[in-house]
Amino acid sequence: MSRYMRACFDGLEAYVPGEQPQDRSYVKLNTNESPFPPAPAVLAAVDAEVKNLHLYPDPEGRVLREKLAEQYGVRPENVFLANGSDELLSFAFLAFCGRERPVAFPNISYGFYPVYASLYQVPYTEIPLREGFVLAAEDYCGLNRNIVLANPNAPTGRAIPARDIEEIVRANPDHVVLIDEAYIDFGGESCLPLIHRYDNLLVCQTFSKFRSLAGGRLGYALASQGLIGDLEKIKYSTNSYNVNRLTLAAAAATLDSGGYYEENGKKIQENRAYTTQELAGLGFETLPSVTNFIFTRCPAVEGEALYQALKSKGVLVRHWNKPEIADWCRVTIGTREQMDLFLDKVREIVKEAG
Ligand SMILES: *Cc1c(COP(=O)(O)O)cnc(C)c1O
Repeated sequence: MSRYMRACFDGLEAYVPGEQPQDRSYVKLNTNESPFPPAPAVLAAVDAEVKNLHLYPDPEGRVLREKLAEQYGVRPENVFLANGSDELLSFAFLAFCGRERPVAFPNISYGFYPVYASLYQVPYTEIPLREGFVLAAEDYCGLNRNIVLANPNAPTGRAIPARDIEEIVRANPDHVVLIDEAYIDFGGESCLPLIHRYDNLLVCQTFSKFRSLAGGRLGYALASQGLIGDLEKIKYSTNSYNVNRLTLAAAAATLDSGGYYEENGKKIQENRAYTTQELAGLGFETLPSVTNFIFTRCPAVEGEALYQALKSKGVLVRHWNKPEIADWCRVTIGTREQMDLFLDKVREIVKEAG
């Protein structure tokens, strides 16, 4: 830190993104990207848009918002676009949380939540998950705070039903309940229909995972017009052109290629079941997952050692040193070939350990 940075950021611990190594090629199962490239129509749409890059993008992203609204049965006024859902979360924390409006989230969840809370100096409470990393809705009722939940949760992969979300939203009518549905399309139950009945529910989704567009950076919120208007106010006070032209074009074309992504999603589900079963044969314990990753632990090799051994063999997975989850590794589900390679390396490591 230079002597010019404000002292209030002394204690700020920035988010550490998953490794994106450029030195050698790895089987990359560490940041939950899709192993499948964007649909052909997306490549064509981006190509066609390049010639317009001398012009600013539409700050309202009108075409894309209308398409998303149609797809989800809402109005464009219920849709907000952001540069990845990370930016969306940042705007939401800035808009709705503060000293006088504290926030709560699970003790094991997406690592960015405590970072945004610290950045904006928002008091936060981490609510412990129950046995088996189960999220109990009753733990979030009547907290008198804003609430942020990933559903399905990361890095556990577990989900709760929409009726549990409804219970939480109803029990906190004077606070915003933000549901981060980054992985919803891999098998969870979306709470989106509830936005028509609850004006305090903010649903966040992304093109980064199921829709193979992590590099394009597009997240969106679906909520009551009031909450969307609040996010707009923050956006227009920060960066009115937050979503660039190529990404707007890519995303619109993505929505026109639904079948391609559904097929890819099915392959991920198959590969998830296959990988889980093979790991079980090696004695691994794997949580039930409705996402494009699994959270797994090996009885013979502790988490950090497994992560390191896989890395030395050219396979990247994600591991955290946090005590509650130090035994576990999060493994993104890739293609069948990638999973077979991962499993081969795991077999070698288990053998070497035994
Ligand atoms: C990947 C992820 C995000 C971030 O998505 P971007 O749209 O790429 O910024 C947000 N929340 C959770 C829980 C995620 O896993």
